[in-house]
Amino acid sequence: VMIEAEGEATAVWSHKQRIAVFLAAMRHFCNALHAAQVPLIYAGLDDPDLPDQGLAERLAALLAKHQPQELHVCEPGDRRLHEAIAAVAEAAQVRLVVHSDSHFLCTKAEFAAWAKNRKELRMEFFYREMRRKFGVLMQGAGAKSKPLGGQWNFDASNRSAYPKTGPGEITPPARFTPDRITQEVIDLVNQRFAAHPGSTADFIWPVTREQGFAALQTFIDTRLPRFGSTQDAMWTETPFGWHSLLSVALNLHLIQPLEVVHAAEAAYHARGLDLAGVEGFIRQVLGWREFIRGVYWLMPDLKSANHFQHERPLPKWYWTGETHMACMRDVVGQTLRYGYAHHIQRLMVTGQFALLAEISPQALADWYLAVYVDAVEWVELPNVAGMALYADGGQFTSKPYIASGAYISRQSNYCQNCRYKPEHKTGSNACPITTLYWAFLDRHEAELAANPRTSLMVKHVQRMDGEARAALRDQAARLLAQLDAA
Ligand code: FAD
Ligand code: SF4
Repeated sequence: VMIEAEGEATAVWSHKQRIAVFLAAMRHFCNALHAAQVPLIYAGLDDPDLPDQGLAERLAALLAKHQPQELHVCEPGDRRLHEAIAAVAEAAQVRLVVHSDSHFLCTKAEFAAWAKNRKELRMEFFYREMRRKFGVLMQGAGAKSKPLGGQWNFDASNRSAYPKTGPGEITPPARFTPDRITQEVIDLVNQRFAAHPGSTADFIWPVTREQGFAALQTFIDTRLPRFGSTQDAMWTETPFGWHSLLSVALNLHLIQPLEVVHAAEAAYHARGLDLAGVEGFIRQVLGWREFIRGVYWLMPDLKSANHFQHERPLPKWYWTGETHMACMRDVVGQTLRYGYAHHIQRLMVTGQFALLAEISPQALADWYLAVYVDAVEWVELPNVAGMALYADGGQFTSKPYIASGAYISRQSNYCQNCRYKPEHKTGSNACPITTLYWAFLDRHEAELAANPRTSLMVKHVQRMDGEARAALRDQAARLLAQLDAA
C-alpha cells in the first residue's frame, strides 16, 4: 500500500518543491512496482473513496476495506507517523509488524547499545566504529586495523574559504529535467498548494533510482575531487558549491548509503584523490548521517527541548528572504528557489542567527522541516535542536555553534554586499549577527565560561568595561525588539 495524503504536505507549511519531490518519487516508484508486477494498492491524493486529509485516516479506511491480518511497514522517518500508524493498526485490531529500515547502516538497537553507559555521545567515536565495522578507508583487518593516512579525521583540512577572487568555475551538479510524471506533480502542487512557500521553477532533483545513481556518479566523477577543502565556504549566488546534493536521493531511499560510501572510496583508490577530501565526504554519510539518526530515536524529548528558554517567533523574512542582511538574504533566497542550502549555510547562517536571536526552537524546527527538499524529521530535528540551537543543552555536541559576523566574513563574500559591517557590534552599521553574538556571550557568561570549549570566547566579553557592555545590551535589545526589520 502506498498512500498520498494532503496532511503530509501541510503538517508544516512545506516548500512546493518538498511536496513535489516526495510525490514524484512515490509515483515513479509505484510505476516501477507495477512494472515488476508487485501487487500494490496506490491511493492518490484525489482518491474519491478515501478521506481527504490525513495519512492515518486514509490508512484506517484502507484497513477497513481490505481487512488484512497483518500490517507490515518499514520504520517511518518520524515519531508522529510511527505513533499514528500504530494507533490505526491497534484500533483496527490488525497486528503491526515494523521492519528495520535497510537504508541505514546502523539499526536503532545497535545505536542504543553503542550509546548505553556512555557519559557523552560524540559522533567522532561512533564514526570510528562504523569505519572499522564496514572496513572503510582502513589498512589491515580486525582489531589491529588502522585508518588510512594514520588519522581518522581530516576535518581541519576541510574548512577553507574560497580564494578572495571567488570560487572560480564550479562543475555543476547533476540536474534532472522533470519528465511527464514529475511535471504533472509539479503542476498539481502549483495549483493545490499555491500559497505554500518556494517556487518549482528550478526543479532539479532525482526522483527515481536511476536518477539517484546518475546524481551519485556525476558527483563522484566531477565534484568529489574538489568537495573537501571548501566544504565550509560560501559565496553569493553559489548555492551548491562543490557539495554532493545527495541528501535527497538518500532520504528518498533512491540510493543506499553504502553505495555512496563505496563509490567515494573506490574513486579514492582508483584515481588517487586527496584522502582528506574523500574522508571528509565519507564522514558525513557513514558518520554524521547515521549518528544523527541514532540520536533522533534515542532522544524523544528533542522536539520540546529549549535549554535557553527561547520563545521569540521566527522573523517574517525567513519565509521571503526580504532582509537587509546579505548573508540571510542569499541563504533564504536559494532555499526558496531550490529547497537547498548546504551544511554551513544551515548551521552558521540561518541556524546560528536563530540561536542568537532567541527564536523558539519549535518555530525554527518547523521552518527547517518545511523548506528543505531533504527534510525528514529524523535528520532535521537533531540538526536543528541539537547542532544549531543547543536546545538539548549539549547532549551530543560539546558547545553551542556560535560566531560573530567576522566568521561569515571570513568564509564568504556576503559582507561585501551588505549594508552592515561585520566588525561593528554597536552603532548604526552594526552587523546584527555580531551584536547578538556578543550579547549572547554577555547573557550566558557563567555557562559559557564553565565550558572549556567556550571559555576563551567569554574572556573577550569580560574585558569590556561597564559602559561598553551597557551599549551592547542596549543595541541588542533594540534589535531583538524589531527583528522583522533587520
Ligand atoms: P554534502 O555536504 O554533500 O554531504 C553528503 C551527505 O552527508 C549529505 O547528503 C547527507 O546525507 C550527509 N550529511 C552531511 N551532514 C549531515 C548531518 N549533519 N546530518 C545528517 N546527514 C548529514 N540533512 C538532511 O538530509 N535533511 C535535513 O532536513 C537536514 N536539516 C538540517 C538542518 C540544520 C540546522 C543543519 C545544520 C543540517 C541539516 N542537515 C539536514 C544536514 C546537512 O546540512 C544536509 O544533509 C546537507 O546540507 C545536504 O546537502 P548535500 O547532500 O549537498 O550534503
Ligand atoms: Fe551577514 Fe553581518 Fe556580513 Fe551582513 S555584515 S552579510 S549581516 S555577517
